[in-house]
Amino acid sequence: MTDVFVPFFVDEIPEALRPDGLYVCIPYATAVHLCACGCGNEVVTPLTPVDWRLTFDGRVSLSPSIGNWSFACRSHYWITDERVHWSSGWDDERIERNRARDRQAKAQHFADAAEASESSHRKKLPWWRLRRTKD
Ligand SMILES: [Zn+2]
Repeated sequence: MTDVFVPFFVDEIPEALRPDGLYVCIPYATAVHLCACGCGNEVVTPLTPVDWRLTFDGRVSLSPSIGNWSFACRSHYWITDERVHWSSGWDDERIERNRARDRQAKAQHFADAAEASESSHRKKLPWWRLRRTKD
């Protein structure tokens, strides 16, 4: 079990991870660490507007919390200022509700992104109008 994480800013996630290492990979917008309970499972947290947000103000924080429901340990904790703050276990219903909300947020995010890129295409002038001149 670890109560403190040490951040490593890396270009690629190394093969062997330190049990107290929080590996932040900017090129892949992903952070990876080993479950804080010590079970050895790798926790991958994609950094996107609908997944996790990483803040660095000299110390690293991840939000929202890390809920390892798919691991046998089912550990749940926050990493704030590189420290582990344990959260009480969530019951199955709350986990399912949270997953559903997460799926919905993702679907909305990608729908918004698709719409935004479509409308920006629509606003674009056809290429041939760029060259139209009056003689
Ligand atoms: Zn664990």
